[in-house]
Amino acid sequence: MIVEIPDEKQMERLGASFAEVVSSPVLIFLQGDLGMGKTTFARGFIRYLGHQGNVKSPTYTLVEPYTVGGGMVYHFDLYRLCDPEELELMGIRDYLQDSISLLEWPGRGAGVLPAPSVVLSFRESGSGRQVECEGDSATLRLVEERFSG
Ligand code: ADP
Ligand code: MG
Repeated sequence: MIVEIPDEKQMERLGASFAEVVSSPVLIFLQGDLGMGKTTFARGFIRYLGHQGNVKSPTYTLVEPYTVGGGMVYHFDLYRLCDPEELELMGIRDYLQDSISLLEWPGRGAGVLPAPSVVLSFRESGSGRQVECEGDSATLRLVEERFSG
């Protein structure tokens, strides 16, 4: 499924549509260049679940935890990860065990990260963005319904 996203508000709404549909445990990869809207998507997702503060890319800390609706959401950004082994050291598998995890720059963790349920690829499209969604087809069908409805 490929969705055209004309502006920031709609990108947050796409994030919210995914948040409405998925349940823990789930791992979602957010891939694409800098500035393509990955963090904007994550903000819409995490705020939909009830978080009211800022959502910034955890570029230097690798992960930002959010307690929402009685569960954990982890927002990872592996942009500055030098060695995938660091993920083993931080105990990545424990994080992913029983949480909703959104992960920017999954390519940096190749070889250590488990397979995701959903992969979202963000790219430029005119003045907006295009997001290609791959993975569990039942999930994607529901997201499409929510997002277009
Ligand atoms: P990334 O995390 O991929 O580096 P960000 O989410 O930080 O990207 O977004 C970078 C910029 O792109 C922000 O200024 C944001 O407002 C803008 N943006 C996000 N989604 C869209 C969109 N669909 N169309 C146009 N601009 C967008
Ligand atoms: Mg980002």
